[in-house]
Amino acid sequence: MGLNACTFVGVNILDGKKCANALLEQIQKQTLEFDKKPHLAAVIVGNDPASKTYVAAKIRACERVGFSSSMVTLPEDYAQEKLLDKIKQLNEDKSIHGFIVQLPLPAHINPQKIILAIDPKKDVDGFHPQNIGKMTIGLPGLRPATPSGIIELLSFYNIKTEGKRCVVLGRSNIVGMPISIMLAQKSKPGNCTVTICHSRTKELSLITKTADILIVAMGKMEYIQANMIKKDAIVIDVGIHRETDPNTKRGYSLKGDVKFSEVAEKSSFITPVPGGVGPLTIASLLNNTLKAYKWQNKT
Ligand code: NAP
Repeated sequence: MGLNACTFVGVNILDGKKCANALLEQIQKQTLEFDKKPHLAAVIVGNDPASKTYVAAKIRACERVGFSSSMVTLPEDYAQEKLLDKIKQLNEDKSIHGFIVQLPLPAHINPQKIILAIDPKKDVDGFHPQNIGKMTIGLPGLRPATPSGIIELLSFYNIKTEGKRCVVLGRSNIVGMPISIMLAQKSKPGNCTVTICHSRTKELSLITKTADILIVAMGKMEYIQANMIKKDAIVIDVGIHRETDPNTKRGYSLKGDVKFSEVAEKSSFITPVPGGVGPLTIASLLNNTLKAYKWQNKT
């Protein structure tokens, strides 16, 4: 088990920022060798403040590693057909190596239609069925960024996963389902015995208490409390929520799906929010962009 996890007040933190920085440094080093830089584009539809913050962080990360980037900002009422045209343009634009369409989209746009329209070679979020299929059968491809980030973190801290009982809370296409598949695979990290839980799961606590590794991606603020976990479990908190907090400069603080203050003491390792999975999602997105660039340029 990782001895280099940072410890404070008796808690072993899996430091997502530190792990993401290491990955970003590797990406930056490789980028220095290219004459033409990898280019990531981000499409954002509407005015969701959280989406704007995430996209801004992705663009800043591009600057840091030496990628070029662009942002396509579209109004809330932008028609689905027009968005599909925009995606076609991005697919055809040879100067753009990867792009994302930030989710969630306004209610009148069907996200599945949008994901299907993205060229799988430029699908750096790793959401296209072709990429999900490749991931599922263990072929190289662009893997979903958040689950890839979790794998990166487990690997960075040398967390032993083989033979461990892993419980994943949430079965979304972007987090719960793909991380369940990745951890069940014959790989390192992997070889876990995985149980997937969702909103119809009965007696959730009985299942969460069996977890050596608990991955929480429910979208329910501070839902997981200390009495729901086994002592010394490893807890990965994917959730991100804004809680109004007049004591902070921006007026809110970030919370996860896990009640950190009590779960941290009982777990052996835990990811904080912020500074856990979030930075790794961004680093993995850039790593996918680098992969897409290399495949498109055959380097
Ligand atoms: P999602 O699509 O809303 O999926 C939530 C999942 O949790 C669903 O499968 C749902 O079950 C399940 N669930 C909801 N309530 C439950 C309950 N009481 N008991 C058991 N399962 C329950 O969410 P998501 O996109 O996977 O995201 C999850 C969280 O992670 C959100 O807070 C999101 O903001 C955050 N997130 C963070 C990052 C990051 O970079 N850190 C990236 C992506 C997402 P059903 O399938 O039955 O509805």
